[in-house]
Amino acid sequence: MTAVQLVEACRALAAAGLSPGSSGNASMRSGDRILITPTGSALRRVTAGEIAVLAADGTHEEGPAPTKEWAMHLAAYRARPDARVVVHLHSRAATAVSCLASPGEDPLPAYTPYRVRMLGRVALVPYAAPGSDALAAGVEAAASDSHCLLLANHGSVVCASDPGRAVDLSEELEAAAELTLALHGRDARTLDPGAAWT
Ligand SMILES: [Zn+2]
Repeated sequence: MTAVQLVEACRALAAAGLSPGSSGNASMRSGDRILITPTGSALRRVTAGEIAVLAADGTHEEGPAPTKEWAMHLAAYRARPDARVVVHLHSRAATAVSCLASPGEDPLPAYTPYRVRMLGRVALVPYAAPGSDALAAGVEAAASDSHCLLLANHGSVVCASDPGRAVDLSEELEAAAELTLALHGRDARTLDPGAAWT
């Protein structure tokens, strides 16, 4: 996978309205290195020539300085050997739900079979400051069991096998969050996740 593919995913996420302003960042594995969006950019305007390159241990190898949230991306890859792409967003509905949910509860109830099948178990990572080691540790702990995470009072992280899947998952997560907000405070029926999809 190449920086061009990563940039195409960034454009799709921006076009979907999931990266307000300069928020959001994305990365992908390339061999034993990580390609990642730079600091001070935006998903709608980043170019392939601006993509930063990190070693697996986080050492900066090429390009501009990476996003300040780079450690969280590396943590997700450590937890998920299957992940080839990681996307972090501050999208509106997912971030709103991240402020409503409590640790230990499912932040996105199983209202529809689609939510159950596509997103699986969604974990809520306790709040820690963006870019902190504590947040990276929280992501690493949660990501082994969940490929979709909400970061409390912050946003979302999705881990995927390829860039197109990462975009799909990000849109599906936002749609599920919108549904959760629409039903918040109502006595809405939920599904048994184990029986929602055969
Ligand atoms: Zn963030």
